[in-house]
Amino acid sequence: MSPLFPALAAGSNRQALRFGDRSLTHAELATAAGALAGRLRGAGRVAVWATPTLETAVGVVAALLAGVPAVPLNPKTGERELEHIVSDSAPSLVLAAPGDTLPPVPAALERVDVDVRATGSAALPPEPPAESPALIVYTSGTTGPPKGAVLPRRAITSTLDALADAWQWTADDVLVHALPLFHVHGLILGILGPLRRGGAVHHLGRFETDAVARELANHGTMLFGVPTMYHRIAEALPDDPALAKALSGARLLVSGSAALPVHDHERIAAATGRRVIERYGMTETLMNTSVRADGEPRPGTVGVPLGGVELRLVDESGEEITAYDSETVGEIQVRGTNVFTEYLNRPDATAAAFDGDWFRTGDVATRDPDGYVRIVGRKATDLIKSGGYKIGAGEIENALLDHPGVREAAVTGEPDADLGERIVAWIVPADAEHPPTADELARHVAGQLSPHKRPREVRLLDALPRNDMGKIVKRALHG
Ligand code: ATP
Ligand code: MG
Repeated sequence: MSPLFPALAAGSNRQALRFGDRSLTHAELATAAGALAGRLRGAGRVAVWATPTLETAVGVVAALLAGVPAVPLNPKTGERELEHIVSDSAPSLVLAAPGDTLPPVPAALERVDVDVRATGSAALPPEPPAESPALIVYTSGTTGPPKGAVLPRRAITSTLDALADAWQWTADDVLVHALPLFHVHGLILGILGPLRRGGAVHHLGRFETDAVARELANHGTMLFGVPTMYHRIAEALPDDPALAKALSGARLLVSGSAALPVHDHERIAAATGRRVIERYGMTETLMNTSVRADGEPRPGTVGVPLGGVELRLVDESGEEITAYDSETVGEIQVRGTNVFTEYLNRPDATAAAFDGDWFRTGDVATRDPDGYVRIVGRKATDLIKSGGYKIGAGEIENALLDHPGVREAAVTGEPDADLGERIVAWIVPADAEHPPTADELARHVAGQLSPHKRPREVRLLDALPRNDMGKIVKRALHG
């Protein structure tokens, strides 16, 4: 098999990773990760205490070189969930940065500190087989307890190469990165992506609009973010000309992990002249669709299937939908070399997730006539059955966010004797002293969409419940 990281194998002297004031070239990374890989061979599985540091990147690359499956652990995870993940994945040791303090559960494992300045022979171990498990990444736990998705090497290479094609991503790109490193977005796209291309990544440690502006102005070409980051950017832009200038100069701004509200998309476009590109993926399938760098951006859509990914919509009886229109909603199913092997220790969940070789994403969507996919939301929580209609929460959320009195919005369906389900809007008002009234919001939505899509009830909150990826956790909104 060809190497996962050709630039490491070639000993390139270009910069690969920079975290704060510490950086490594591809050649230095090959030496450090190669030395650690030698220690890891035969280790079974290794956990990685995935702080946003150079050590995490070197540790994961070392495990990939050694052919030992790596399990990234989210350092913010609570004790109970961490216990579940560690006992489920049963790693034989944990990689950490020197000085990291670990909580009791991973601390009980053998600990290996990652030395980013290790020296040694530059010879890398032979490339492991394409089907061998490379990473075990736990899902975000938005809809239930996190499941460990077993990702083979070929899923990683095929997704990264499809993205390179869609985004015209090359060795000259410098990614500005402020995402956590324990999920697909920050780790596979954000770290392994630039390394596979032979380019560079500058990690900011944490997201701040000033740091984003500085790094984009200082050679950064691409920004990957989640919608909460673009929301903060949209809020900051009117008073921050340096940020607007830096974003205008970027080659590519990409959003994913959850839907980017159309309102934020439009505000960023108006202030910078740049369109954010949306892509859609998940832990189990890596990336499925994206707006292409040379394609037409269309707010509210996640673009078209990536190379190597087959995508279909299926109705409730399991029949494939052939319509391409704004009315016909179906579950997205995908197949291709990007799809994971199985959920670790969960043959039941794995079997339930597949229809033959098609993976059931649990997300529902419509398609524009030219194939652009519009995600309506999750089948379980975002498809509201009210008064004989099937209504997507996403378009109501977008309409609510367009109201000047609304800062954040989430829409759920609550049981209702008359309607089956009643549309409830959970709102964080822009001004807590003067929140918009339920009537006003109902009229606003009815005017923008149609009357049956208006919220029947409005509940005011100080903040929406979100997980560590900034995703709204709808199961925490109830009653
Ligand atoms: P769990 O599976 O544990 O409930 P999760 O589904 O949030 O958690 P991830 O695999 O991190 O875990 O997230 C994938 C999901 O994120 C997708 O199934 C989809 O619902 C959502 N998503 C990702 N990108 C987008 C996007 N661009 N637009 C809308 N939704 C998106
Ligand atoms: Mg999921």
